[in-house]
Amino acid sequence: MDDYDGDEVEVEVEASGSGDTVESPVAVVDGPHMNVFWSTGMLAHNAGDGMFDTLHDPGFLAVLDSHPESPERIINILSILKKGPIAPYISWHDGEAAELEELTTFHSPAYVRDLLDAHKAGGKTLCGGTRINHGSWKAVLLAAGTTRRAMRYILEGLGKLAYALVRPPGHHAQPTRADGYCFLNNAALAVQLAIDMDVKKVAVVDIDVHYGNGTAEGFYSRKDVFTISLHMNHGSWGDSHPQTGQPDEVGVGAGIGYNFNIPLPNGTGDKGYEYAFKELVVPALANYKPAMLVVTFGQDASAFDPNGRQCLTMDGFRTLGRLLKEQADIHTDGKLLLVQEGGYHVTYSAYCVHGLIEGVLQLPEELLSDPMGYYIEEEAPTIDRVEEIKEIFSEAIAAAKSELKKSETS
Ligand SMILES: [Zn+2]
Repeated sequence: MDDYDGDEVEVEVEASGSGDTVESPVAVVDGPHMNVFWSTGMLAHNAGDGMFDTLHDPGFLAVLDSHPESPERIINILSILKKGPIAPYISWHDGEAAELEELTTFHSPAYVRDLLDAHKAGGKTLCGGTRINHGSWKAVLLAAGTTRRAMRYILEGLGKLAYALVRPPGHHAQPTRADGYCFLNNAALAVQLAIDMDVKKVAVVDIDVHYGNGTAEGFYSRKDVFTISLHMNHGSWGDSHPQTGQPDEVGVGAGIGYNFNIPLPNGTGDKGYEYAFKELVVPALANYKPAMLVVTFGQDASAFDPNGRQCLTMDGFRTLGRLLKEQADIHTDGKLLLVQEGGYHVTYSAYCVHGLIEGVLQLPEELLSDPMGYYIEEEAPTIDRVEEIKEIFSEAIAAAKSELKKSETS
């Protein structure tokens, strides 16, 4: 994709990358709108191909997949935001590349050096399905820098709503390792920027279908960042992802109680997500009272995603958008940063982004109907699970605090 010129989505691109300009194809309406931060250089990351996301050719298949974390999925999101009915509600802003020294505000210097070495060597597979190729490094730096720029835009009072439309995604990247298609944790770097700009308390709500383990890990012993993740109950997946994502992983030391894992049953669906959000996320945020809200936003919780089993539809994303904006209105004076994570169905992810942004903007009428969604949901397993999660979470906090007390007095 190195030679992708962006013509299909009418994005003006200068070859250097540093002079990217993004222009809105339509007049932006007065009133609530979403500020989208984007840079075309992020399409330069080619995640590879093989049998699905493995980068492996088993030798007996006639057709191998392009890696699901493809430029095409983002091109379609870009396109629907430029040409779909939401277009007049979008304001476009240029992204920028992060500086190396900015990366070590969240990642270890040794890890950043490893990434740079992998880039200089012309490519390296860092863990399953996660490979730096020629062209990746530019995209990686742009994703991190663009997310930080979107955060700065909000904190400088230039706007309250921003969406960092970035790739490669970031929420699995931990301070010292890559994981799950992620190299740098874009959202975590922006959260740390907020803390460095004197925001006292930041809440991160992760609605990607996978556990936001990298963000959780980075802030696990801190109480100035409250990480909440709703995800499929997938558990640990090896060395790069040792965290289980279970509700008894509650943080350590000063961070006890400030990591809230919400693993939901397969097939949870729209109503189940709404129920879990209202029963678990709303009270948790009310208790914490964040000054800034960041949403790590993956569309792989959708009903058609090859990487997820949670069966949200466009309507479910619209509802989540509305609920998230209500929380921002209650706690952060309406300030909300969305950060793009996973979402691998090339068509439906774009529709789900459209739906969520409609919800965040609290538009009175639905602008775009769902062309694909259908699902009969079963709510009972989610309702039971939510009760279990409440119990496990509070018992685990009590146990962790008593352990901590014991170790301090011994
Ligand atoms: Zn994901």
